[in-house]
Amino acid sequence: MAELFSSHIIKASKEGPNGLIIAGVHGDEYEPVLAVLKLINQLKETLIAGSITLVPITNRNAYFSGARVGEDKLDLARTCPGDSQGTITQQVAAEISELIKKADFFIDMHTGGDLFDISPLSGYMLHQDPSVLDTQRAMAAAFNLPIVWGTSPELEGRTLSVARDANVPAIYSEYRGGGYRAEGVDDLVEGCENVLKYFGMLPGQASQANIQYTLEDNKPGSGHLQVMHPAPEEGIFIAQVDLGDSVSEGDKLGYLLRENGEKGADIIAQRSGMVFLKRAVPMAKAGDALAGILPIQ
Ligand SMILES: [Zn+2]
Repeated sequence: MAELFSSHIIKASKEGPNGLIIAGVHGDEYEPVLAVLKLINQLKETLIAGSITLVPITNRNAYFSGARVGEDKLDLARTCPGDSQGTITQQVAAEISELIKKADFFIDMHTGGDLFDISPLSGYMLHQDPSVLDTQRAMAAAFNLPIVWGTSPELEGRTLSVARDANVPAIYSEYRGGGYRAEGVDDLVEGCENVLKYFGMLPGQASQANIQYTLEDNKPGSGHLQVMHPAPEEGIFIAQVDLGDSVSEGDKLGYLLRENGEKGADIIAQRSGMVFLKRAVPMAKAGDALAGILPIQ
């Protein structure tokens, strides 16, 4: 198979796990790409055990389109395990899936991209195998972002779905979006380094000082961000809440403004908790996610 993305392998002289860290599954998420490039330079000097494979821009076709998806319009995070004979995104899915299956652990870093602003979090699937689940919980905690979130394991097409089926412990991260946030790069680098400390591949203890909330939700589809508080009609979304706000079920999160200037539908909180996801661009088509709430106060 032709190489569709570049990967960098760093090996320590001492035996240890073989980790895989990737960014750029979506082409409009930049902080994770910068974090992986920084890790490539730093880990050459610091890795003490095992090996790590780093992929800074997994979905080059989308990245160089400046868009979430590539020219075939397929979402790489819905296309795994892909098809090596298929379209460009299907081919990338097949190639990254092979790397995931060979890894001992896996980290996939995201942001909300152009469309969403998301509270920094690390997430994992509630894996049926207790030992995989325990490792994922430990990795997500070691990543040391404010929210640690376990969700139902049945979602398909994602890199984490491939890891799940191969029993490879895996986590993902989300970090803001709706514009580039330079501070995110260092937090993501530190998160990855903390996971490597957990596996004994870097010296020192993994800090968990930044964690504020840990929650698990096994309801089907609980981790599917793109369906939260969907717009009932097209319009301009006027948000009236911010990330981190506490809301009660029934509270108004904002409203849609119609093209003719009339006020459209109110967007009402479907549960109580903390706003952790907010649409970052005003344009909304019917069905587009506008906001997300986690059941934490
Ligand atoms: Zn993404």
